Amino acid sequence: MMKVHNTLTRKLEEFRPIEDGKVGLYTCGPTVYDYAHIGNYRAYVFEDILRRTLKYFGYEVTQVMNLTDVDDKTIRGAREAGLPLNDFTAKFKAAFFEDLETLGIERAEHYPAATDHVPEMIEIIRKLIDKGVGYQSDDGSVYFSIDKFKEYGKLARINRDGMQSGARVDQDEYDKDNAADFALWKAWTEEDGDVVWDSPWGRGRPGWHIECSAMSMKYLGETFDIHTGGIDNMFPHHEDEIAQSEAATGKKFVNYWMHNAHLVVEGQKMSKSLGNFFTLREILDKGYSGREIRYVLASAHYRQTVNFTFAALDAARSALARIDDFSDRLSRSSRKGSEGPVPGWVERAEKRFSEAVGTDLGISEALAALFDMISEGNRALDSDECGGDLSAALALMDRMDSVLGFLGAEASEEDSDVRQLVELREKARKEKNWAESDRLRDEIDSAGWTVRDTPDGPVLKKK
Ligand code: AMP
Ligand code: ZN
Repeated sequence: MMKVHNTLTRKLEEFRPIEDGKVGLYTCGPTVYDYAHIGNYRAYVFEDILRRTLKYFGYEVTQVMNLTDVDDKTIRGAREAGLPLNDFTAKFKAAFFEDLETLGIERAEHYPAATDHVPEMIEIIRKLIDKGVGYQSDDGSVYFSIDKFKEYGKLARINRDGMQSGARVDQDEYDKDNAADFALWKAWTEEDGDVVWDSPWGRGRPGWHIECSAMSMKYLGETFDIHTGGIDNMFPHHEDEIAQSEAATGKKFVNYWMHNAHLVVEGQKMSKSLGNFFTLREILDKGYSGREIRYVLASAHYRQTVNFTFAALDAARSALARIDDFSDRLSRSSRKGSEGPVPGWVERAEKRFSEAVGTDLGISEALAALFDMISEGNRALDSDECGGDLSAALALMDRMDSVLGFLGAEASEEDSDVRQLVELREKARKEKNWAESDRLRDEIDSAGWTVRDTPDGPVLKKK
């Protein structure tokens, strides 16, 4: 049984899915008006770990991540670039998928784009107007009347007394102090250019919040299990999603809300508007790998603020080297053959790891289980009394990696062609045929592997 911290109740709760063994998960996706910064990737890495942990516990996950390709920011960006909206966003959609690959983030089952779901949004707005919760104002836009939804504010816990009843806000982003009727449908203005759809309320475009209500309910149903995002999205975005969805369907929208804390730089949220951001590409250009960046983003608990530093990336490099050395050592020793029961240090690590990740993704304890296993395992291997079947340790590393996603390619993944090249190279080296050994090293390199010579023999690593 997994436990998660539910933002709706501010409590640690047992996770009970609507349908046995299955989970519907909605994760707010990128606004594709620029390259995502690594603060955004903190959110996506957290969601990836959540998805992988659910799978580790045997759930079948259906994850939906939307692509916000029409909102205030994308329209402004397209106008400034002098491009049609879809041409402008296409480049950032492609970059986003490349970045997911770099960070070892598993693909979601659905990536719906907002521009493909305007009819579904119109349908929800129509229901809200029919129920008297939505109304059209003089300027032609349609607003949600927060007075008409008695539970407005329940997620962000805002005080209803302070709400400006009847006041309206048409920007997508605003703060709690300005809680007001928000836009469901925005009447066309000159700034929108040719970004426009027909609707029963005239030409215009959807507001940002309605996009996520429409796309989540379309793929996951009117009530689903988990909805996540960064804490900055709790208000107004998620509060508004709840209001629109629940007012339209009369049903509870989401059972568990989970929010990640921010990635900060010198105490401030990393964001485009503050100008204190790094894109993934910028960090890769400085010589760090996707795996190292993933380690930094994944290794702090998702509800704790992370301070981004290059020192943390360097520390990640050393931690990963320690993990790699241990995997190499395990593979080499297990190839030599080891028999017997599952060693005690493997069993202990597995139990501790499962409990840790199953308790609100307790990453610190999970990593402690991993590194203690490495220490104990190394001691056991030093003493030549490994205490049993080493393939069990390798299998556990694989299971841990199914959650963490940064333990990396192990020697077990080596394909036999590459192994053969390594053996030929060993032979050449014994014969002191250095030219041949160098040539074989290049060949191994082109196959995507590096070979390192150690006192115990050559060690292969996937690049
Ligand atoms: P956006 O593209 O701005 O809608 O953001 C995409 C996701 O990244 C959302 O879940 C945000 O809450 C999250 N996010 C934005 N900035 C940060 C940050 N500095 N740290 C962590 N998550 C963030
Ligand atoms: Zn969203």
